Amino acid sequence: LLPIGALFGVVLSACLWLLSRLYVQKAADFRYALQSPQVFMQYQPIVDLRSGRCIGAEALMRWQRGKRMVPPDHFIAAAEKAGFIERVTERVVQLVARDAAVFLHEHPDFHISINLSAADLSSGRTVSMLANMLERTGLPPQSFWVEATERGFLESTDVMQVIDDIRTVGLRVAIDDFGTGYSSLAFLSSFRLDVLKIDKRFVDAIGVAGIGTGDKVVTMVIDLARTLGLEVVAEGVETEAQAHFLRERGVQYAQGWLFGRPQSVDALRKLVAAWLPSQAP
Ligand code: C2E
Ligand code: CA
Ligand code: CA
Ligand code: CA
Repeated sequence: LLPIGALFGVVLSACLWLLSRLYVQKAADFRYALQSPQVFMQYQPIVDLRSGRCIGAEALMRWQRGKRMVPPDHFIAAAEKAGFIERVTERVVQLVARDAAVFLHEHPDFHISINLSAADLSSGRTVSMLANMLERTGLPPQSFWVEATERGFLESTDVMQVIDDIRTVGLRVAIDDFGTGYSSLAFLSSFRLDVLKIDKRFVDAIGVAGIGTGDKVVTMVIDLARTLGLEVVAEGVETEAQAHFLRERGVQYAQGWLFGRPQSVDALRKLVAAWLPSQAP
């Protein structure tokens, strides 16, 4: 029995070693690809649920590795683990500025939302990087939101200072994936925030669970946001029924396949040009 156990142990550790090598290799490849055209941004529309108007977009990074699109969850996590996520965020800001400068000048009410990771929230460099970008492009700070996940809040130190500094520069701050990080209400209310993004898993629960448990939870989250004076964006809205439910409860903004998939900056630009002039209230 012992040799079989030993053999099993050897095979297992070999597999683990191989996996970790693959992981390290992937992070290294991504770091290299970061400055190449393999890595680019897509933009997902964020709409006003009442008017249907596209009021902003979330910037999402893409890595086209040969024929394959690598899922963002994978390469972002790899960069976080390998310790170079700040370089990634810097690249995001650079690409967004390049993509959006002209376009944002044309539409001063429109905003682009940028995702920050936990490490970005612990670093004073994030604020100066954003401020430098505004200075370089001459764009107003209100053209940008940053999104920080609840997990990011929990995992980083100095986050309160960084958030305050970002808001002082004039950007708005959203808490992303809300409801997935198990933070307490007291913890959440200690931050000065502007926007709460309801995670897709809550939106998925609308109308499900028979006795309406899902509906009750979503309603609680909406009420919580209102109590804290935050605007609400519902994420991952895929059906008209979900949109209707959220609209009825006074949720202002939504994002999801019902309204638009992540798309190229050119596609977004056309979409906004089509909506903004004619649909303005
Ligand atoms: P996230 O910040 O929660 O972004 C929303 C994700 O939900 C995106 O996935 C988007 O494509 C997807 N989504 C939006 N609407 C729908 C819908 O109606 N149905 C479904 N099934 N999915 C929808 P994506 O682009 O795969 O990104 C996954 C995650 O990777 C993001 O989650 C974010 O945490 C991270 N990520 C992506 N780009 C960046 C980036 O530039 N920087 C950082 N730090 N993280 C990023
Ligand atoms: Ca986000
Ligand atoms: Ca999210
Ligand atoms: Ca998410």
